[in-house]
Amino acid sequence: MTYFLIVFTFLTGSVWASDTVDLVVLHINDTHGKLSPYNLGGYKVGGIGRLSTLVKQIRAENPGRVLLLHAGDIFSRGEPVVIYTGGYVNLLAFEKMGFDAITPGNGEFYFGIENLKRQTSRVSTPFVHANVTYKHHNGPIFPPYLIKEVQGVKVGILGLGLIRPWHQSSQTLRLHDAVETAKQYMPELRPKVDFLIALTHIGVKNDSLLAAAVPELDLIVGGDTHTRLNTPSRIARANGEGSVAIVQARHYYQFLGRVDVQLQKAAHGYRVMRLNGKLLPLDGQIARDSKIEALIDKYARPLDEVICRTERDLPNVRDERSALGDLVGEAVLDQTRADVAILERNGDTHGVFAGDISLNDIYRLRQYRPPVMLTRLSRDQIQAVLEARMYLTAGCSFERKDETIANLKIEAKPDSAGTYLVAMERQVAFRHFLRDAASDSVAFDFTGQRVDTALERYLRDVKVIR
Ligand SMILES: [Zn+2]
Repeated sequence: MTYFLIVFTFLTGSVWASDTVDLVVLHINDTHGKLSPYNLGGYKVGGIGRLSTLVKQIRAENPGRVLLLHAGDIFSRGEPVVIYTGGYVNLLAFEKMGFDAITPGNGEFYFGIENLKRQTSRVSTPFVHANVTYKHHNGPIFPPYLIKEVQGVKVGILGLGLIRPWHQSSQTLRLHDAVETAKQYMPELRPKVDFLIALTHIGVKNDSLLAAAVPELDLIVGGDTHTRLNTPSRIARANGEGSVAIVQARHYYQFLGRVDVQLQKAAHGYRVMRLNGKLLPLDGQIARDSKIEALIDKYARPLDEVICRTERDLPNVRDERSALGDLVGEAVLDQTRADVAILERNGDTHGVFAGDISLNDIYRLRQYRPPVMLTRLSRDQIQAVLEARMYLTAGCSFERKDETIANLKIEAKPDSAGTYLVAMERQVAFRHFLRDAASDSVAFDFTGQRVDTALERYLRDVKVIR
């Protein structure tokens, strides 16, 4: 008798114990390409190495019940190694860290959908995105959602994001309303899962609209606005059954967000009993994972190669003519054999000091690396482009007075039709000629070059700048 009682108690005890399940959702967003620690208020913070350490630690404390999510903006504002690898080095590190799902941010699209598809296909990490499709066949760019079973709980993760329709990189893509898209997926997705997360890159205001419109969601892990939500913001459900929680973890590897969820077994599946969230600082208290840092280093080291030497400083002034601007223009003319170059101004650099020039100096001049294209334009067409906006130019000179330019002098001679061969970055070409169907008459050829590759080749030949 006693024997049976003991068995009975043991069984009910174990049934009772498995009645609730605790999940840990770790989330980060808008890390951008800031892989290394940096100064913030006098302290070194951030860095992908700290993120890796903290994730490992939390996984060790919570075996088998941690989900790790990224809500987008991974590639842009990057260190040279990020730009040089097209963001691959970030994704490789995330794959090693075992991310369960990522929704690409607008920053990933600026490098072009081709690059995004190529780099994401090189890692096993799943990407989800429900509301961007290809224009030509309306098919999705990534699976809209995934379902992952954690401790017997079926967790749905729906990806929602944004692209900037005005950007040339978005022209082959169609953006659908995130809230409407989420609503459309609910009848299909909600019955399949116990816990439903929207992994979004639409900003915290839109997350609130989403929460109000789609009460089927349990949690919104957001990004894009770089918002610091120390605790989840909660949008109460109209039916009085609890709320939809919204979390976001600032930016640049400053915090890792942690959401603790307790679910209880119900007649069908599980229901949420408790959901608490907080931000964990990635500061000096956390050791840097040398393994992840060594991986990044392996890809960064080739950029230390010195390819040229300059005997004078080459400052960069964004809004005026400058030595580095002239060098970039010269390099593009040399490598494309164009008469005139019309390029975006150099960003994100003060220039290069006298001494060695390494690839690190070059692969920071263009965040998104638009291709350089060639076309033939008349003098009037060139004048109109130069009047419309400040550009970095080569092969011509002029004086700017407010909205007009005077004394345009083009060094090369025109061809018999009165046109010049003009090299332009794709965003410039798009802005003036490709955006409107009316400008179809201007045809462009790809050169296979970008500003950074043209400069690299040019400087390897020049060897010394005097
Ligand atoms: Zn961002």
